[in-house]
Amino acid sequence: MHSLEDTIAAIATPQGVGALGILRVSGAQAVPLVKKIFQPLASSLNLETAPSHTCHVGTLAGAELIDQVVITLFRAPHSYTGDDIVEISAHGSPFVLQKILALCLRQGARLAGPGEFTQRAFLAGKLDLTQAEAVAELIRAKTDKTHAAALSQLQGRLAQEVRALRDQLLPLLAHVEVGLDHSDEDHDFLSRAKLTEKCQTVRERLDAILATERTGKILREGLRVALVGRPNVGKSSLLNALLKEERAIVTPIAGTTRDTLEESVNWDGIPVILVDTAGLRPDAQDPAEKIGIERTRQSVTQADFVIGLLDASESLQPEDRAVVEACLKKPHVWVLNKSDLPMKLDQKEFHRWNGQSPVLSASAKTGEGLLELVEFVKRQALQEKSSTSEAQWLINQRHADALKRAQNGLKEAITAAEGKAYEECVAMELKSAIDALGEIVGDVSTEDLLEQIFKNFCIGK
Ligand code: GDP
Repeated sequence: MHSLEDTIAAIATPQGVGALGILRVSGAQAVPLVKKIFQPLASSLNLETAPSHTCHVGTLAGAELIDQVVITLFRAPHSYTGDDIVEISAHGSPFVLQKILALCLRQGARLAGPGEFTQRAFLAGKLDLTQAEAVAELIRAKTDKTHAAALSQLQGRLAQEVRALRDQLLPLLAHVEVGLDHSDEDHDFLSRAKLTEKCQTVRERLDAILATERTGKILREGLRVALVGRPNVGKSSLLNALLKEERAIVTPIAGTTRDTLEESVNWDGIPVILVDTAGLRPDAQDPAEKIGIERTRQSVTQADFVIGLLDASESLQPEDRAVVEACLKKPHVWVLNKSDLPMKLDQKEFHRWNGQSPVLSASAKTGEGLLELVEFVKRQALQEKSSTSEAQWLINQRHADALKRAQNGLKEAITAAEGKAYEECVAMELKSAIDALGEIVGDVSTEDLLEQIFKNFCIGK
């Protein structure tokens, strides 16, 4: 791990030209360091004694003048990282910002690693781990629902819930350690039945949180929806219609979409990634088309949901069979496209192929049936039965792993308590559940874990 003693610096705004660009310096030497390169407009200002949360206009210069800037001062401990922080707002030129950064580094600052400011905030106790993760989620959020969920996590909702569950288990552990079934004057009696009941209540709550894992993944990464069908059924046209723009090339010659195309859409706050695939045609000879078809199979494998397209204006073709078989492996809906043309597809025959799967009728050309399709896909994204507030959680893989370990610990504790096992066994399992919950918020953390979490952050955050 990087030394916490270092004063770190990084450009905090994205690469590229903008009205403003911000550079952050954090650490014990932040103020004296910036003082050496900053000439305040107010000549009476002494940066070293200036109060926290104040802004100062001036110029930045090393051997030569670099820019006119505003600096904002945050003094320890009242800053994001808990250390002294100086934020330098310069003009948003990558050239200028790089010069300022180089100047700070020459004055003794070290270039910050990814997420190092947030990692310092965590280590200083300003944020717990779920809140630190929420910072990254908030930066990446592209829809209302993802943004709201990230914000709620940043405000500590997930941490509060996890801590509340841990607080229910801690007194149980204390009781067990004193001795189950042994009533004495100083301690309340806790029967094995009561212990089991209390553990069960916590388990149910953990179940409810874990039930939101899939929604969390969708809100974070988007619902991947693959459009699959033989060539010319209207996949590209449907993609364009759903995007309301001409993205995929639409031609009447079969087999033109040879690669896969991905587009992100925001359907009422749910991020959806639509993947247009090459037509599935088992007998493709052209090598490029064969590669496209292989990609299609991969897209189906990677998809959370598949829209299987058929051309309602033609009779069922042998190639449609390959499509049906590929789609049946995933949650899917059939769309009988080209509903604006006379129906020639034998629906009875089709039902024999696909069993009970839902079928919608639509026209990529006229837009008919597309709203129903969008509604259907949205319902798939949020299919779990959790309450709306719980659906806002962004449970990630790390949380889910720890929650499952906590659940397992409780299950074993209940089995041990019911099986008249020694108190030590019950206590051990309870403790493993409590520790797993502690890991989520970061009460128990290792260097490796922190490295894993913060390596995905941007530099400057
Ligand atoms: P893909 O190969 O599956 O991507 O199919 P395309 O989107 O390229 O469409 C093939 C042909 O079908 C094009 O000539 C489209 O204009 C036409 N087409 C697509 N959807 C519809 C529809 O809903 N109605 C009608 N009448 N034609 C459509």
